[in-house]
Amino acid sequence: MSNSRLQGKVALITGAASGIGEEAARLFAENGAFVVVADIQDDLGQKVVASIGLDKASYQHCDVKNENQVEEVVNFTLQKYGTLDILFSNAGVMGPLTSILDLDLAQLDNTIAINIRGVTATIKHAGRAMVARKIRGSIICTASVAACLGGVGPTAYTASKHAVVGLVRSTSTELGAHGIRVNCISPFGVATPLPCSAYNMEASQLEANSCAMANLKGVVLKPKHIAEAALFFASDESAFISGHNLVVDGGFTVSSHTYN
Ligand code: NAD
Repeated sequence: MSNSRLQGKVALITGAASGIGEEAARLFAENGAFVVVADIQDDLGQKVVASIGLDKASYQHCDVKNENQVEEVVNFTLQKYGTLDILFSNAGVMGPLTSILDLDLAQLDNTIAINIRGVTATIKHAGRAMVARKIRGSIICTASVAACLGGVGPTAYTASKHAVVGLVRSTSTELGAHGIRVNCISPFGVATPLPCSAYNMEASQLEANSCAMANLKGVVLKPKHIAEAALFFASDESAFISGHNLVVDGGFTVSSHTYN
């Protein structure tokens, strides 16, 4: 397949200093896009940009909890690259595995503030920029298999990721009138700091667990598998797909209730 699927496009990726967002930043740049790496981990984000190349990528601090910072990173993208074709709203937190019986509601508030309020702010400001410039853009959010099932993550996280799917369906309906597509991806068990920290597992252990739980055998799940799905939604290959939740889980969600 061509490696110029995003030639000349401009992409903003939140949560791009690590994991899935980092991999997407590399893959989008390899496919010809200019990429704005946005995150709160400034040192890591700068390193990602340096490794991609300053001619292809820029780093901007952006805490998605702060709407002003979201607006600023959209404005930065427009000023630096002249347009905004792709938003990958990927930043998220999982938080500890806590029983509903002991849930500290402040933890729920933080999860909602990042995973839903933050994602909403990115769609709002990127959407405004696209509509004002008549850009037929692509917006991609990161949900989770926890948006499809209960019991595969903390309650606050599960609720927030179900809400991401609702947000995508609602905004795709409205923004579709402007030719803007909105989709989300639901990954499963990729060994990044987010689940490793929540489940208190080494990356190798989490990776092995995911392989064991996936229906599809013989593939070791990596961030690149999720980034490839984001690339599909970012590219014209998905030109007639909007409001969709693409589950990337090696068949986990359809096989989890069987005994094989
Ligand atoms: P990760 O820990 O490698 O990356 C998450 C990134 O988000 C980090 O760089 C972090 O600094 C950033 N971030 C956190 N809070 C932020 C904020 N307020 N503003 C801006 N950036 C912030 O984990 P990951 O697995 O790559 O996670 C990316 C997305 O994938 C998340 O939305 C997560 O919920 C989702 N997800 C991951 C998995 C998995 O198995 N890894 C499964 C399902 C969904």
